[in-house]
Amino acid sequence: ERESLALLRHTPAVTLDGQHIELLANIEQPGDGPAALVAGAQGVGLFRSEFLFMGRSGPMPAEEEQYQAYRQAVEGMQGRPVTIRTIDVGADKPLDRAQAREYSLNPALGLRAIRWSLADPGMFRTQLRAVLRAAVHGPVNLLFPMLAHQREIEQTLAQVELARAELEARGMAHGAVQLGAMIEIPAAALMVRMFLRYFDFLSIGTNDLIQYTLAIDRADEAVAHLYDPLHPAVLRLVAEVIAEGRRQGKSICVCGEVAGDVGMTRLLLGLGLRSFSMHPAQILAVKQEILRANAAQLGTWARQVVQADDPAALLSTSA
Ligand code: PEP
Ligand code: MG
Repeated sequence: ERESLALLRHTPAVTLDGQHIELLANIEQPGDGPAALVAGAQGVGLFRSEFLFMGRSGPMPAEEEQYQAYRQAVEGMQGRPVTIRTIDVGADKPLDRAQAREYSLNPALGLRAIRWSLADPGMFRTQLRAVLRAAVHGPVNLLFPMLAHQREIEQTLAQVELARAELEARGMAHGAVQLGAMIEIPAAALMVRMFLRYFDFLSIGTNDLIQYTLAIDRADEAVAHLYDPLHPAVLRLVAEVIAEGRRQGKSICVCGEVAGDVGMTRLLLGLGLRSFSMHPAQILAVKQEILRANAAQLGTWARQVVQADDPAALLSTSA
């Protein structure tokens, strides 16, 4: 099975009815790009930049160190796009104790991700400047985690402008970037039209979207049996974000674990998803599903699955 999958590495990811599907990699280290290319990735859909910040006891990485890391990630992809997500620490991705801000009783609901960045704009702009500088070396998309409020969106975009102005003032080279938001809080999914007014693209983070929709701690074994990607409430949010993005002609990606789950591929295709970002090890298996699928035919079935009270029961039936 592994060997026959390897034959698909150079096969374009096109459905039976001719839909081109983008298969991207989730990476955690700046040097992960070349291996992702070998695994068949067409780009990086999610570089989890927080791994540069975690597991170190000293100060946060300075702009130059971050720039070198992002530049390495960009150059490693040889002209293919790299989506760099700004730092998403907190909850399941804790910083070293010494750097952690205040202790939080409910860290998943606390000062996490973009909230953490906006609480320290100087630190945030250090990262933004490093990313904008790295964008000189290849196509970069800048992705923001855990946005929910319009005010946060406006603050975030203002920080990007300020970071750019700071580089201008220093006379330093910086590149153009596409700006995107993670849709991983139910409030964001419900406000998808507002998000599309501000952003060039969206990326659905199903890991957190499931956690926050179902009130299930994604890291708590005691409730793991209730962590259900096929809960109809989750599927409706995902379906609506994909549909609205398509109506507006904007790129929508799924970068949570479901994107790499071959049991979900046909459903996501049927809902109109055309961009998947996943652990590189999953790319060829997902591609195999895509090559066997007729995306247009899956549409009616996918809508039925999403409308069902028990989507899992319908998922095993064919379109
Ligand atoms: C997600 O929430 O689905 C996601 C991709 O981000 P992370 O797993 O890093 O929180
Ligand atoms: Mg997330």
